[in-house]
Amino acid sequence: MLQSGLFSKISKEFPKDEESLNSRLLIRAGFVKKLSAGVYSFLPLGLRVLHKIVDVVKEEMNELGAEEMLMPSLVPKAAWERSNRWNVDVAYKLNSQFGGEFGLGWTHEEVVSDIAKNFIFSYQDLPKAVYQIQTKFRDEKRPKSGLLRGREFLMKDLYSFHADEADLNRYYNLVIGAYKKIFKRLNLEARVTEALGGAFTKEYTHEFQILSGAGEDTIIYCAKCDFSQNSEVVKARAGEKCPDCGNALKKSRAIEAANVFKLGTKYSDAFDLKFKDKSGNSKPVVMGSYGIGPSRIMGALVEIYHDESGIIWPEAVAPFQAHLINLSQKSKVKSQKLYQKLQKQNVEILYDDRDISPGQKFAESDLIGVPLRLVISEKTAGKVEVKQRNSDKIKLVTEKEVIKILSSGKG
Ligand SMILES: [Zn+2]
Repeated sequence: MLQSGLFSKISKEFPKDEESLNSRLLIRAGFVKKLSAGVYSFLPLGLRVLHKIVDVVKEEMNELGAEEMLMPSLVPKAAWERSNRWNVDVAYKLNSQFGGEFGLGWTHEEVVSDIAKNFIFSYQDLPKAVYQIQTKFRDEKRPKSGLLRGREFLMKDLYSFHADEADLNRYYNLVIGAYKKIFKRLNLEARVTEALGGAFTKEYTHEFQILSGAGEDTIIYCAKCDFSQNSEVVKARAGEKCPDCGNALKKSRAIEAANVFKLGTKYSDAFDLKFKDKSGNSKPVVMGSYGIGPSRIMGALVEIYHDESGIIWPEAVAPFQAHLINLSQKSKVKSQKLYQKLQKQNVEILYDDRDISPGQKFAESDLIGVPLRLVISEKTAGKVEVKQRNSDKIKLVTEKEVIKILSSGKG
């Protein structure tokens, strides 16, 4: 991609009406644009990152054997009333001019249960799991955390259907394993955190919490083992001994990036979703639901990976693998040739072909945060200056080596 051809441009200053670091950096660098509080457009540069996050999530969901589908955002009032969730404070409600009320989907247990009723009849039809990547709407009171809390945001929601609690528990643990893999691939350390809110009383639900001062949650956790609880529900307190290993517990702000729920029969009861067991008895289907927020994860990545000069994208989600910068008229042909060679190798490359000062090129490159910077000028004398975004070390290497490094980094 030629930088001169990019739809978005770097802004000279940070946006004045944004408080959160993730949205300030993402807006200034041309990844997203705010339309209104908690509502953002993903510009071409930002959509590249979002798609990479979504691809990782999809791969792990498919690996679980879940099937992808897509449900509507317009959900009729009657569906919400069956589960007693029409009057929820985050719901956007609207009227059709031709009659009928709708709630914009902020979650889809109601819709998926109603659909499943058409396909699940017997124990032989279980277990089943479907997921979607879809825009969700929540009327948040004060959306001031950028992509961490939007009124409109992208969500992956997975729903599973089981014959009994034991099978739900088996699958629930598989999903936790898949989520762990997703966060590892995205270079994020997410703590599996217990929180109240499960359908079965006394049982915990689990959240995936990323330690960050920008987070809106507070967790009590152990730095030596996996113990972690949301402070809204905990019995444990910071400074007390970890119940699992005895180490002193710590307290931290955290970003909730995913959650998993054992729904039990709450929605199958509401929607009369039943199946016949081996003896022919009619039983309610046992359900689970599992959410993960790709757009929120994009915000979390910026909160974790940045410095005073800009964003530092991990390779797995970076909009481009490398940023090629040409510094002088005399080396322009050479730069152009390397750009074409790398494109032929399917390397995702951003080439700064503009006639502006080296200082501005370097500053903008740091702001955008592509992992590898390649510089060609008269001074590099036929070679290429290579620098990682997260390091100050500069190496002079041959063109061949550059091509080798970047094409081996693919897949
Ligand atoms: Zn511990």
